[in-house]
Amino acid sequence: MMRALARLLFIFLLAYAGSALAQDRGTVEDKTLPPLEHPDSPSTPARELFARKNTPDPATPRSIGFYSHGCLAGAVALPINGATWQVMRLSRNRNWGHPKLVEFLERLAEKAKKAGWNGLLVGDMSQPRGGPMLSGHTSHQIGLDADIWLTPMPDRKLSREEREFMSATMVVREDRRDVDPNVWTHAHAEVIRVAAEDPAVERIFVNAAIKKALCREAGSNRAWLAKVRPWRGHDYHFHIRIFCPPDSPQCEPQPPPESGEGCGHELDYWFTEAMLHPPPPTEPPKPGQGPTMASLPHACRQVLMAP
Ligand SMILES: [Zn+2]
Repeated sequence: MMRALARLLFIFLLAYAGSALAQDRGTVEDKTLPPLEHPDSPSTPARELFARKNTPDPATPRSIGFYSHGCLAGAVALPINGATWQVMRLSRNRNWGHPKLVEFLERLAEKAKKAGWNGLLVGDMSQPRGGPMLSGHTSHQIGLDADIWLTPMPDRKLSREEREFMSATMVVREDRRDVDPNVWTHAHAEVIRVAAEDPAVERIFVNAAIKKALCREAGSNRAWLAKVRPWRGHDYHFHIRIFCPPDSPQCEPQPPPESGEGCGHELDYWFTEAMLHPPPPTEPPKPGQGPTMASLPHACRQVLMAP
């Protein structure tokens, strides 16, 4: 019972952190953060420090810690324009990742195009040095997570303004019990399948209504469904998480998903009244809160302090 409650609470917290993301608008104005008054104080939240690092730690690439508790050395940027992808919300400066994530996204963009998805609109990856963020996610800290919009890339280069202000497409029906047939296409299912079938991918998070649609449309090739797991939010974008790379001994893997494809009655829980209409969150996190450097893996101090 307590575990169930704890799980529910955890999900609500993450839901709050994840729900508005794709719709958070960016800015074309200068977003330089004011210097901290006491950057060396042990009580300074780590996210205030990592958010002020605009360049990567120029070290050998490694992911340090857990997806929701760590940092990233040797990050590389996904170029903002590719033949089959474009990066959104450039003002966030979150198109950084472990080189394995960047390689994967470039590969996925090409494979998805062949499967009928016109190209990827890439949302948040990680900050230049990973770490906790001032807004949004609890994960995306070690350069192995990426959000992909559920909107196919248009056939033209988006302007700076469009990348900041355009909205992703809501694919879940208003009653939250299924996808919206006016929006959802087979290509949506295909881009998620192609991602899940890549051996680098550990897990994909989608809204339960999307998982339901994938279960329905998968046909006889269903092994990939096991990696696609329901999560609150994730109705404008899906979230891809790749495995810890071999060059990162301090990367903590996630326990494997429950066995089975996770369709049918396994989804019932997500369509209960409590899950469909959770009580509103009590309060958004306050600026002064969050983990401090002392609670992150020790190696993250070097990553933060590197020139
Ligand atoms: Zn995400």
